Amino acid sequence: MGRSLEQFQPIVPGFVRLYSCGLTVYNYAHIGNLRAYLFTDTLRRTLQFKGYEVLHVMNITDVGHMTSDQDEGEDKMELASARSEKSPWELSEFYTQEFKKDLQRLNIMSPSVWCKATDHIEEMLDFAKVLEDRGYTYVLDSGLYFDTSKVKDYGRLALIDGKDLQVGARIEAIPGKRHPADFAVWRRSPPGKQRLMEWMSPWGPGAPGWHLECSVMSLKYLGRHFDIHTGGVDHRQVHHVNEIAQNQAFLNSDSSGVNIWMHNEFLMFEEEKMSKSTGHFLRLESLIERGFHPLSYRYFTLMASYRKQLQFSIGSLAAAQTGLHRMLRSVAQLKERAGHQDWYRAVEETKFSRGASFRVVRQLLEDGLPAGFNRADALDEALSEDLNTPRALALLSSLLSDTAMPPAATLRNVGSFDLALGLNLLSTAPEELLDQGEPGIAEAEIQRLMAERRSARQNRDYRRADEIREELLKAGIQLKDTPEGTTWERVLKPPTGDGE
Ligand SMILES: [Zn+2]
Repeated sequence: MGRSLEQFQPIVPGFVRLYSCGLTVYNYAHIGNLRAYLFTDTLRRTLQFKGYEVLHVMNITDVGHMTSDQDEGEDKMELASARSEKSPWELSEFYTQEFKKDLQRLNIMSPSVWCKATDHIEEMLDFAKVLEDRGYTYVLDSGLYFDTSKVKDYGRLALIDGKDLQVGARIEAIPGKRHPADFAVWRRSPPGKQRLMEWMSPWGPGAPGWHLECSVMSLKYLGRHFDIHTGGVDHRQVHHVNEIAQNQAFLNSDSSGVNIWMHNEFLMFEEEKMSKSTGHFLRLESLIERGFHPLSYRYFTLMASYRKQLQFSIGSLAAAQTGLHRMLRSVAQLKERAGHQDWYRAVEETKFSRGASFRVVRQLLEDGLPAGFNRADALDEALSEDLNTPRALALLSSLLSDTAMPPAATLRNVGSFDLALGLNLLSTAPEELLDQGEPGIAEAEIQRLMAERRSARQNRDYRRADEIREELLKAGIQLKDTPEGTTWERVLKPPTGDGE
């Protein structure tokens, strides 16, 4: 909010409540979208690395997001549905699963709570009624609108003041709006037209506004006062500005209930922001098809501050992959030199499981370090400085080339670093990055799983057989049962570009 660095003070000591705006699931995520979730993941990992417990909530937008961030255009879900054979519900389910698959491949931790807009319509109606009762709204033929002149400091997050509210609303396309920046809380279906996704409301049949859902779900799951709200920098102009206004109205306060707003900058592609509307956008899948490991993309984004625009090219991604490969090779050599000592068991036992407390794992690793060999504190310092990930990678690099440190101690430090960086440094073999052209699961592993499935079927354990089929499908391998036996093929995802 203040465009400045501030000392982080959690509301409840030792505990952080974090909300992230999730994907609008009318299409695949592009790698620019994914940068936002890598940023949030680094933030979350850093907080956990520092010993905080984090309650992380992320939404799925499956209704209400219009083709323009203002209220013009059509609902992205409805539009995508009209262009395909599928209902908005089918589309949202499909793209949600694809999105989750991408997050998993990037080693992004699952949020503590996933919440979906269409599961919260009742709460949104209740919330909107409170805004109406308090006099913050007015009704037009096209729905219920928020009167932005009624809240204190509207637009402060976007650095808009009362005089140039037009900045937040380029076109005045809705008849009757009192101020250009006023926005729909509830969008009423036009007379005679039934939308594919609509609900009854006191303001007629229709659908909620996009901003409403994030206000409702964040306050529902994190309480009326929480620590951090994240999103892409585009949200700083309209979406979060409007969330703040609604929260102020609902909470009857000048405060939005959110202590800190953090935004990541865009991923740039050929001098333009990567976006679905320009038609050229890259998916994680497209990178994998070109022989890149998903974690190379993670590494690539860590090379820049989240607050800076990041220029993407295949060449710079290849350089990132080379950098990560070099690190993995050093780790592999260290493992060989260290042998299976106690440190290795400790690391194996904890597996950095998603459920394990980072504080415990970090402590475990650090306790085994000889005096003077702890580098985790230096990493802590770098990341505490507004997530200085380039500095963190430099520290990792010098750690790996520190020949004075015993190999087991280096590996303990690597384990500690990886809690925060999420690069799977101890469990990824360097060869996995060189599988050019044949990315994903190796053929030997496919054969092994197919054999296991065969014997599961012979033993009538169809559940296990189905599990294996699913597991392989997740890895991009589709099985076909034919009279001659089972065959497999790598499935390519449908081409991109079915966005608006
Ligand atoms: Zn949001």
